[in-house]
Amino acid sequence: MKSVKVLTKKSFEFEDQDFKRGEPKSMIPSTEESAKTFMEIITLVEKLSEDSDLDDQGLLRLLDYLDDGQNATAVRAHLTELAHQRRMAVYGNRVFLRGLIEISNYCKRNCVYCGIRAGNPNADRYRLRTDQVLESCRTGYDLGYRTFVLQGGEDPTHTDVFLTSLVRQIRDAFPECAITLSLGERSRESYQALYDAGADRYLLRHESAEEHFYQRFHPGMRLEDRKKCLEDLKDIGYQVGAGFMVGLPGQDNTVLVEDLRYLKTLDPHMIGIGPFIPHHETPLAEQASGSVDKTVDLLAILRLMIPKVLLPATTALGSLHATGRELGIRAGANVVMPNLSPLEVREKYDLYDGKICTGDEAAECRQCIQKRIENTGFAVDMARGDHPDWRN
Ligand code: SAH
Repeated sequence: MKSVKVLTKKSFEFEDQDFKRGEPKSMIPSTEESAKTFMEIITLVEKLSEDSDLDDQGLLRLLDYLDDGQNATAVRAHLTELAHQRRMAVYGNRVFLRGLIEISNYCKRNCVYCGIRAGNPNADRYRLRTDQVLESCRTGYDLGYRTFVLQGGEDPTHTDVFLTSLVRQIRDAFPECAITLSLGERSRESYQALYDAGADRYLLRHESAEEHFYQRFHPGMRLEDRKKCLEDLKDIGYQVGAGFMVGLPGQDNTVLVEDLRYLKTLDPHMIGIGPFIPHHETPLAEQASGSVDKTVDLLAILRLMIPKVLLPATTALGSLHATGRELGIRAGANVVMPNLSPLEVREKYDLYDGKICTGDEAAECRQCIQKRIENTGFAVDMARGDHPDWRN
């Protein structure tokens, strides 16, 4: 039987000193009943890998099983290994680096989980001037970066006039670099103007594809608007990134299945997922963080569902676990976005507590992440790293 063969030959080879996800065979459940369930789940994982999809019921069954700590270990190792193989087949062992520049922490929105929400009177607000952004790009360029990601809150002073001028200046100064924007919801006309000015990519996590769940965390916002933005961006010709947080309070597996289904249908070029981490000045201050294991499971599932997607191992994952990004990379992630923001504003772009790398110079981040990637058995790739199908 095929799945048995795979189990004995491959599944449990993927382990080393600091990689605790691949536990040995003894974790296979021993009672007849649980062994049957185990084989059923392994068959689902194989099917997910072969078809790049599973029906919603299958996804739910898999996610529920993975939540069961004890029994889940062997399935998790197999899922991770298949995702790793898929990533190797599509992208090889390279990990793309993108330089992240956090251009403003002013925000008119009130997302319940976010430390820079408008409702946080204690956020120490800043916005970068055009010359500061250009200087960060220059620093990044000299360190080898060929993608700049400009991220920020929804800052009302970021008019189309200001942003298109900024994008055009970056485009002129660094013609061969990709410009990624992550500045929240804007009108189609605005997205078009920014694209025409030279932006290539746009990151806008959908945050949740489940209507009620979305509402709960985004007062005054509508899921349909968010989806419309993503469709507009795709339609205009951007490489588009969607995604969500793992472990927001009340997020059960049925909610996550909706996210997976939405992503499979949208088929974005990039998917950002990371664990929720509480921020002390938000209504979620007392809530628990999301799970590192679950975030990594979802990265692996998404690598199998959307094999060509560009999948970052996020800073939030690295903030929650000392080698969180490495775990993500081993489960199919192939992008890391080290920080290029000027040192004096790093701490102020404070989305959640305990964010890593707020005190490191851009050059240090660059070296540190390269070492981590290489120690994990992968290689850094400083090319633009476009999606394989973009403009083809
Ligand atoms: N204003 C932009 C950028 C938001 S910040 C936009 O709306 O797209 C980038 C991402 O950080 C968000 O999409 C959100 O998913 C994530 N984030 C915000 N608060 C967080 C928290 N407390 N823990 C983990 N991730 C968080």
